[in-house]
Amino acid sequence: MIELENLNRTFQVGEQRIHALKKINLTINKGEYVSIMGPSGSGKSTLLNVIALLDQPSSGKYTLNKQVVTQLNDDQLAQVRRENIGFVFQFFHLIARYSAAENIEIPMILAGVPVKERKLRVAEALAAVNLQQRASHRPDQLSGGQIQRVAIARAMIMQPQILLADEPTGNLDSQSGVEIIELLENLNQQQVTLLMITHDEALGQRAQRRIRLIDGQIIQS
Ligand code: ADP
Ligand code: MG
Repeated sequence: MIELENLNRTFQVGEQRIHALKKINLTINKGEYVSIMGPSGSGKSTLLNVIALLDQPSSGKYTLNKQVVTQLNDDQLAQVRRENIGFVFQFFHLIARYSAAENIEIPMILAGVPVKERKLRVAEALAAVNLQQRASHRPDQLSGGQIQRVAIARAMIMQPQILLADEPTGNLDSQSGVEIIELLENLNQQQVTLLMITHDEALGQRAQRRIRLIDGQIIQS
């Protein structure tokens, strides 16, 4: 469902040209559980951002569900992303002044889902991450593990087939981290394709397939 061909991403910073992704070739099939590992600066986040359509490659071809997405404009990209991809970040990226329920609701507002259906689906989503009792809490009133569960509920509210996670446990204690991984793995067992960046070797080993990056190149896939 995800196919990257000869993909490059370079960044120009002043005089310096950084080759963050070098000739990446990668195919990921529906339902896979893949971990992405590698040293800091090896291109893991850049790769995930490109797959998430949050960033565009400098060259190469990206095909998502048989559609070439490399040439789409911003509106088209946003729509493809909304329909296909959920993303979970290390630093959560919830909106601080919104409650848990409101944060989860946002993607549905953007997608034009009617208010009645939104309320129903938010309640279901809160229950799915075991936070029924925290609907009105703002992020500063929640623990790190709870915040990440809200972020996962938000990422999944449009029922994407693909869930991308960039060090989702990087800011959590180990117990909360394991709970988050189990939640993600549970979604994968429901056929969601799961790609997760981690620097934790033990967590990475739980995936069915491990991709290793060094210096912008895939050395194992
Ligand atoms: P990782 O997630 O594996 O730590 P990144 O994908 O964040 O690595 O970064 C890969 C390389 O690209 C690094 O050298 C980083 O400094 C550079 N880089 C990433 N994003 C940008 C950007 N927006 N502008 C310039 N350089 C960037
Ligand atoms: Mg990173």
